[in-house]
Formats: sequence, C-alpha cells, structure tokens
Amino acid sequence: LAATTKPPLEIRLCAPRGFCAGVDRAIQIVELALERFGAPVYVRHEIVHNRYVVDSLRAKGAIFVEELDEIPETDQPVIFSAHGVARVVPEAAAARNFFQLDATCPLVTKVHREAEILHRKRDREIVLIGHAGHPEVIGTMGQLPPGAVTLIETEADARAFTPRDPDRLAWITQTTLSVDDTAAIVRILTERFPTIMAPHKDDICYATTNRQEAVKRVGAEVDAMIVVGAPNSSNSQRLREVAERVGCPVSVLVQRAADIDWARFEGIARLGITAGASAPEVLVEEVIDSFAERFDVRVEVVTTAAEDITFALPRQLREAAE
Ligand code: SF4
Repeated sequence: LAATTKPPLEIRLCAPRGFCAGVDRAIQIVELALERFGAPVYVRHEIVHNRYVVDSLRAKGAIFVEELDEIPETDQPVIFSAHGVARVVPEAAAARNFFQLDATCPLVTKVHREAEILHRKRDREIVLIGHAGHPEVIGTMGQLPPGAVTLIETEADARAFTPRDPDRLAWITQTTLSVDDTAAIVRILTERFPTIMAPHKDDICYATTNRQEAVKRVGAEVDAMIVVGAPNSSNSQRLREVAERVGCPVSVLVQRAADIDWARFEGIARLGITAGASAPEVLVEEVIDSFAERFDVRVEVVTTAAEDITFALPRQLREAAE
C-alpha cells in the first residue's frame, strides 16, 4: 500500500498564551496546601476555570464546593479561587474559624481595593464594566454595600445608565474583558460624564491584554483559530471573539482535542492556536498532536510580548515552606 500523504498545515502558535501568573499562583496554593496540610483541602469555586486543572487537583485530595455552607466543621484549609470573593465570604469563614487561604489573583485584589478607595475616600458611585454572573464580578461588587456599584455590560447599558450624581462617578472593570469593547464603553461613559474617574492603572490585566494582542496578529493571518479553554472562562471566550473580529473565518473554543469538530478544519493551510489564562500547556500540546495525526504540521511560534510576572504566595504558605 502506498503511504497516504498528509496535507501540509502551518500552525502559528500564539505567545504569550495559557497560564498567567495569577492562575499559576492559585494552583500552586492548592498544591502546597495539600502537601503541607494533607488532604482534604476545601476550595470554594473552581480554583481556575479549567476542568482538567480541577480534576487533577480533586484527584490529589481537593474538595470543590460552591458555597462555604457545603463545608463541614474542619481545621483543614479553605481556599478561595483566583476570581476573588465578596467580603461576606471571608467574614463567614472567620465566623466558622476556618483556616483561610486566599488564592485571589493580586490583580483582582487591586481592583477590589481601588473600588473601596474610590467609593469611601473619594465618595464616588462606582460603575463596574463586566459580565453579570461571573464570579469575579460578584466578588468585586461584593466589596461595597449593595447599591454602591452599578454593573455595565454593554455600550447600550453605558448609554442608558442614570447615575445618582453625574459628577461623582468612577469606573473600574473586570480583569478579563475585551480590550476593544471596554474602550468603546469607556468612551461613551467619558463623553456622557466628563468628570468620571478612571482607574489608576488599567484593570484589564497584562495577561488578558497580551493574549488578545497575539490573537489579533495571528488571527488575521490564518484560516482558522483554536482557543484552548473552558466555556466559563471569560478571557478564553474573549480570545475566540478577537480572532473572529479580525476576520478569521473559523474561530472555536475547545476544552480538549476530543472536542475538535474536524469537518470545520478541512482544507485549511494555516491554523492559529492559543490558550486562555486558565488552560494548561499540556492541553495545547494535545491539540497540536491531534492535528499532527491528520496533517503534516510545521509549528511556528508568533511572539508579540514577553512576560516575566510572578506573584508571591500567601504568608501562611511562605511560612509553611520555611
Ligand atoms: Fe490575574 Fe489576569 Fe490571570 Fe486573572 S487573567 S488570574 S487577573 S493575571
């Protein structure tokens, strides 16, 4: 039998992609807590939005819950996810004497503190640009009393918003939004309310910004784009949209290679691949391998930014490591 020749496929691999410093730190917190204090450790909400990561930690002894009342009386660590939590959560944990470890990304905590300062010290009504129902949005809104923060999701919301006092406003954002959509919303708010205060430094984090930049560049040059990430991962969803908006004909989000609908990739010559901030590199490799089974692939890395950010671990784990 003559060997069947595979069609050639040029893969452009976005860099940076995948894990950011906040996700890396959050996963490390769960792993170190398991090592230091033994199983089980309790984790409120998916530590990061990725099933593979959650399943691997569960296999090591992490127990995932949505709310604290699912946790029995225990001396074992109780960890809050990278997305951050409303103030009532650590308060409730303290009331039950839980040993708390906070895996909230320091860049989310920065937004929390900012909201607090703008509201309490500068007496501003806060406009939060973000997606309703996302745990980060629930956590950020929950830093202030009910009514102090108004959520704005779209340009239409920004046009319709009626503040209590148009001269006492400030805007903040979720960390994982579309850079372009957010800029459009901010433009509307600033036109309508010229004295609105902006965050000191952008709330959309470096990882979100860099991953979107890479997809903008690669998405415009390829026939299809694969984003490795979870459907409930905000930054992954945004990456899929960014590729679509720069004109990439096929842009899909997959959790793993098994999710790939091969019919959509027939006849392509160039494929872009990236991964959301909560997707491990092993899943990107799995996707590349499955393309390599069907195509004669050549992989080129397209680097649009260098990242060297790391965050310190919580004090309790630093002490434990000493
Ligand atoms: Fe932190 Fe940004 Fe990563 Fe979210 S995406 S965990 S804000 S670094």
